[in-house]
Parts: sequence; C-alpha cells; structure tokens
Amino acid sequence: MQRFANQTAVVTGASRGLGQAIVLAFAREGAHVVGLGVSDNGDTAEKVAALGGKFTSIHADLAQLTQAAARGLVSRITAATGRVDVLVNNAGIIRRHPAAEFPEEDWNTVIQVNLTAPFFLCQAVAQWWLGGGRESSPAGTRLRIVNIASMLSFQGGILVPAYTASKSGIAGITKALACEWAGERININAVAPGYIATENTLPLRNDETRNAAILARIPEGRWGEPADIAGTCVFLASPEADYLNGAVLNVDGGWLAR
Ligand code: NAP
Repeated sequence: MQRFANQTAVVTGASRGLGQAIVLAFAREGAHVVGLGVSDNGDTAEKVAALGGKFTSIHADLAQLTQAAARGLVSRITAATGRVDVLVNNAGIIRRHPAAEFPEEDWNTVIQVNLTAPFFLCQAVAQWWLGGGRESSPAGTRLRIVNIASMLSFQGGILVPAYTASKSGIAGITKALACEWAGERININAVAPGYIATENTLPLRNDETRNAAILARIPEGRWGEPADIAGTCVFLASPEADYLNGAVLNVDGGWLAR
C-alpha cells in the first residue's frame, strides 16, 4: 500500500544528493512530489517517471527567496495540486573559509539559503494550512514539515561558521515553530544527518586525512547513504510520527553517541 497516495510532498533541492533520495522515497509511497530548485532538478524527473510516480519541477532560487515569493510558490503549488501535505526543507549550501576571513557575501548567502528561506517556506505552508487548507484537507490529516539539520546543529565544525550558525538556527526554529503549531495539527521536526556521501561532502571524502578521521569516529564505520536520510523523512511525515514535534533526530551511524 502506498502511504502517501493523493498527497503532495514539496522538497527543496531535489536535483541530487539527499533531496533526490527524499523525492524518490515519497514518490515510491505514491505522493505527487514538487521539487523546488535553481536548476531544472537534474535527472530527478526521469527517475520518478521510472518508478511510475508524479513529479513537478518549479524554479525557485532560495538565495533570492522573499516572504512574498514563498507565499507565491505555495499558492502556485496548491493551485496545481490542490494541497500541501509535506514540506521537506532540504536544500542547503556550505562555504569553507577560516572564520577570521569569512567573507560577508558568503555569510549572507549561507544564512539566506539554509535558514531564512526554510523559515519563509514553513511560514507560507502554515499560512495556507491555518487559512483554510486544514478545512479542505481530508479529516484527520496533518501538515508535516521536515527540516534538514546537521551534526553542526550540535557541534561547531571546522572552517564553516555560517553553515554551523544556519544549522543551529534550523534546529532552533524547528523547536520554536513546534511550540506554536503543534496544537494546529502541524508536525514540524528535523533530521540531523551525519556524514553522508553526496557532492556536499566530496571535499571531505577527497581529503585522505579528514576522510580517515571521520570514518574512524563513526561507530557504523561507513559514510551514510542518501537513502538512510530519506527513510527517516518518510517516517517523520507519516501517522506513526503524530506525537513527534520539535524533535531533531540524529541519523548519523552513532557519530554523536561517541
Ligand atoms: P548537495 O548534493 O550539495 O545538494 C544541494 C541541493 O540544494 C541541490 O539540489 C541544489 O540544487 C540545492 N540548492 C543549492 N542552492 C540552492 C538555491 N539557491 N536555491 C534552491 N536550491 C538550491 O547537498 P546534500 O549533501 O544533498 O545536502 C542536502 C541537505 O542536507 C543540505 O541542507 C545539507 O546541509 C544537509 N546535510 C548534508 C550532509 C551530508 O553529509 N551530505 C550532512 C548534514 C546535512 P541545484 O542542483 O539546482 O544547485
């Protein structure tokens, strides 16, 4: 049985990496998935079609996203699909420089893409839900928001102060919004991935010393795969997670347990 049949799942950064795996996991479960991204979302549409699923790509540059533009995107999505059931704020960028020289432009872009845009999208879907979407939804359904956090929601990291600030902020707004919205049939939680093999972490995997140090610290003894994170997103968006709100779940092969 497909658990997300007749539902719409919106995923940012759907072109590759974790986002693409999250899209495929929801598509497999029958959701109509809407991918928001700057590129044309790579080969995601083809991969969803191969599963017999439904995927719509909408251009959205999160580096430029305003509050009004976020509302406009949600109106476009609800006009096309009738509803939003799930939002996964996945898109994220990282910039590496020593903190003392960290450029202003990189600071602002990372905070905008990783923290401000997800907050505006959370607001826009909640406004739709509270402004009538809830009433037009099948009885008992809930709005589910999953934010992608990081180990750097808990730790400091090296050379990535803007990323750490943004991911600590994502954990913070996940809790803040849960406090306001949990009574409105909205579940908002975060997944904090450990070290996952994607383009984002290529520089670390290509650095022999860092790669060995990271692997030695992961109790599972391997880099995570995007599918490891996608499964947790599906769980958080499912009725089994109705009583989970404001949680930041680390999916890290045991990294934080060390
Ligand atoms: P990735 O392979 O670098 O992919 C990043 C995605 O974000 C791409 O789909 C990209 O779209 C999109 N994106 C970047 N800038 C954007 C913008 N301005 N507007 C819209 N979309 C934009 O990254 P990933 O490793 O899959 O990471 C996904 C999320 O997980 C991020 O939030 C990251 O911080 C988090 N995370 C990853 C790891 C890890 O180990 N990989 C660990 C912890 C947390 P385009 O292709 O269109 O550029």
